[in-house]
Amino acid sequence: MRYATKQRKLLLDVLEAHHDETLSVAEICSLVASEEISPSAIYRNLSELEKQGLVKRVPLPLSQKTGFRYVGSNQCREHLHLECTMCGRTFHLPTPATSQLIENVRQNSGFKIDSANTVLTGVCPDCEKH
Ligand SMILES: [Zn+2]
Ligand SMILES: [Zn+2]
Repeated sequence: MRYATKQRKLLLDVLEAHHDETLSVAEICSLVASEEISPSAIYRNLSELEKQGLVKRVPLPLSQKTGFRYVGSNQCREHLHLECTMCGRTFHLPTPATSQLIENVRQNSGFKIDSANTVLTGVCPDCEKH
């Protein structure tokens, strides 16, 4: 395996394992925890993945920093995502509920939602309590 490819794979494994979290670069670095990939290489790879549409840059809640979220997970192609505007967390709508919602919208408007590219924003149950 080419060196760059191997680095990319290490990074993708970490992102896939944490696909429902928004991670800071520092967190990603500690999760990758490998001598084979430096923080600058991680950052470069993240930018590369962002260009390919596999990673999304999102503001981290409670800080000025930028976080990264993996949106290329195969598990995530089939369902809709809900993003909390207060804490920034992403929730995965179960696939049956996604199908129901999409079908409902289609029947009422003829519009076919692209679930892989749609994020619904709102307030999560935790944040609503406060
Ligand atoms: Zn998902
Ligand atoms: Zn929230």
